[in-house]
Amino acid sequence: MPIRRLAETTINRIAAGEVIERPAAAVKELIENALDAGAKRVEVILAGGGIERIEIIDDGHGIPAEELPLAIERHATSKLQDEALVQISTLGFRGEALPSIGAAAKLTLISRPAGQDSAWRIDVAGGAISPARPVPGTKGTRAIAEDLFYATPARRKFLRAPRAEAEAAERTVWRLALSAPHVAFRLVSDERVLFDLPVQDDLARIAALFGREAANAMLPLEATRDDVRLSGLIGPASLNRATARLQSFVVNGRPVLDSMLKLSLRLAYRDVIPTGRFPVAALRLDLPDEALDVNVHPAKSELRFADQNGVRSLVIGAINRALAQPVSLGTAPTAT
Ligand code: ADP
Ligand code: MG
Repeated sequence: MPIRRLAETTINRIAAGEVIERPAAAVKELIENALDAGAKRVEVILAGGGIERIEIIDDGHGIPAEELPLAIERHATSKLQDEALVQISTLGFRGEALPSIGAAAKLTLISRPAGQDSAWRIDVAGGAISPARPVPGTKGTRAIAEDLFYATPARRKFLRAPRAEAEAAERTVWRLALSAPHVAFRLVSDERVLFDLPVQDDLARIAALFGREAANAMLPLEATRDDVRLSGLIGPASLNRATARLQSFVVNGRPVLDSMLKLSLRLAYRDVIPTGRFPVAALRLDLPDEALDVNVHPAKSELRFADQNGVRSLVIGAINRALAQPVSLGTAPTAT
C-alpha cells in the first residue's frame, strides 16, 4: 500500500487508546482540567463504572464560547507555550485529553466563564463535532463523557467488568482528592455518595479518606533534605494491610504512582512488616519544579527526580524516625 496520511479522526482514535485506556483515565484527565481551571469545588458522578457515563462539574474559570471548538481540537491547549516545556505547573499540558475522549466516546462540554451571559454547549461523538450553542448553566464547566469506547470497539473489549472499572475510577478520584485538600470534592458512583468533603487541610483530608481507624493510628511525619520537603501521615507497622490500597503519594500537588517511592516505602518497613503485607501511608513531597521531570510518562504518573537517591533516603529516614517514636495513645488531648 502507498504511504498516506491518516485521517484526523483515525489519529484521534489511536491517540484515544493511548491517553484514555480505561474510564479511570478519562476521569483523571477531566478532574485535572477542573483543578487546572482553579475550581474550588469538583463533583464527580459515575455510572456503570464510568463506561456508561462520567460527569465532572467544576466551578473553575470556564471556557469562553468562542474557544469551545478549540478545546476539543488535538494539541490545542491554553496551558503551554512551546518554549515552556521545562517549567510545568499545571496538570494537563498536552492538549490531548478532550479530543481523545471525544474520539472514543460521546463528549459534551457545557461551560460558562464569569462575565458571559449564558453557558455554551458543544458535543463531539466519535470525533464528529456539532456546533456550539447557548444553554442555561452556572459559572464553571460540566464535562460529560458517555458510552466510553463505543467508537473504539477494540479498546472496549479490554475493559474489565463495570465493578472493576468503577473501583479503578473511584480510586483515581480518591487520589486526586488527596492531592487537592484545598478543593471540595464530592464523588457519587451509581447513585451512592462515596464522599462529600469540604475544603480541608492536608491532614484532615487524609483522615477523611483513609478512614477513622487508620487515621487515629497514623503518625505524622515531616522532614527536609536540600530543597525537598516531605510531610504526611504513616501507619505504625501494626496497621499493615493485604493490599497497597491505603498508600498515596503526592508530588508537587500531583498524585503519582511512582515505583521508586513505592519501593522506598517497602524498604522503610522491611524489618517490621511481614512479606506480602503493605504499610499504610499518605506522603506528600514538595520540591522545585526543575528538580523533577514529569514529562517521562504520558499519563504523568511516573516521575524522575533529579536526585533519586536523595529522595529515597529522605523518605526511608523520615519513616524510620517516625516509627521509632514512642507509640501515640491515639487519644485526643483532653480539654482542661
Ligand atoms: P490540556 O489540559 O492538556 O490543555 P485538554 O484537552 O484536557 O488539554 O483541554 C484543552 C483545553 O480546554 C485546556 O487547555 C483548557 O483551556 C480547556 N479546558 C478543558 N477543561 C476545562 C475546564 N474544566 N475548565 C476550564 N477550561 C478547560
Ligand atoms: Mg487536560
